[in-house]
Amino acid sequence: MELDACCRSRTRAPGIARGVAHLAHHLSHDLAHGLAHDLAHDLAHDLAHDGAGDVASALVPTSAARPVVGVLALQGDVREHLAALAALGADPVPVRRPEELTAVDGLVLPGGESTTIGKLAARTGLLEPLRAAVRDGLPVYGTCAGMILLADRLLDAPPEQETIGGLDVTVRRNAFGRQVDSFESDVDVGFDGGSLHAVFIRAPWVEEAGAAVQVLGRVVGGPADGRIVAVRQGNLVATSFHPELTGDRRVHALFVDIVRRALAERARTSEEST
Ligand code: GLN
Repeated sequence: MELDACCRSRTRAPGIARGVAHLAHHLSHDLAHGLAHDLAHDLAHDLAHDGAGDVASALVPTSAARPVVGVLALQGDVREHLAALAALGADPVPVRRPEELTAVDGLVLPGGESTTIGKLAARTGLLEPLRAAVRDGLPVYGTCAGMILLADRLLDAPPEQETIGGLDVTVRRNAFGRQVDSFESDVDVGFDGGSLHAVFIRAPWVEEAGAAVQVLGRVVGGPADGRIVAVRQGNLVATSFHPELTGDRRVHALFVDIVRRALAERARTSEEST
């Protein structure tokens, strides 16, 4: 038993370290180089690497068995989410433009820097379409910065910071302390298979949740014991931590299941109305 746990954490650790380093690079890169550079870099990367292919695959007709799940790819740890979604049988696509948003059945908002992602979303004309998509019931899963972007109310944020909103929560940015770059802790999410080992990177927490919000997970132990770090409201899911970095697919699986159910429900209601 002990040996098993030891081996598991040893084999998992390099992947987590790489993921944390990758995300930390994104965060510092953005702060150092500013928005204009990022936008140019992201668009150049988009065109050079995968732009045409991704747009084409996003337009292929979809089914509940293999839903098209977008990852907002303006900044942050996009790659890791694409991999997690593919592993669960979804068809993952990066989303950088409003027309790509219309082709997805669900969307992940990755971790990164929420003010940067918000500004890039406004600049690329995605902010209003994102708000409309959430209002229309598109399933959306936000991790860390993504949780901040889904929140209706923010604490410790610049007054001009814009969010997509839709989730009736008050989220405190950098809640675990500005000095705390990253740490790991167990979170009780009530999933089969026991508590989840969570990676937090300059993470927010949910300070207050409205009546319609289901609290999925809280920190277990340590100075942040009991803090809310995973929530769901209808088709919206948000976590303070980064399951895409640990190889534990249970939160992504929950989200892909929500996407599949929403697709099946839409197909059923459109059949009824014809
Ligand atoms: N602290 C970042 C923010 O406020 C979020 C960090 C993360 O996504 N890992 O946007």
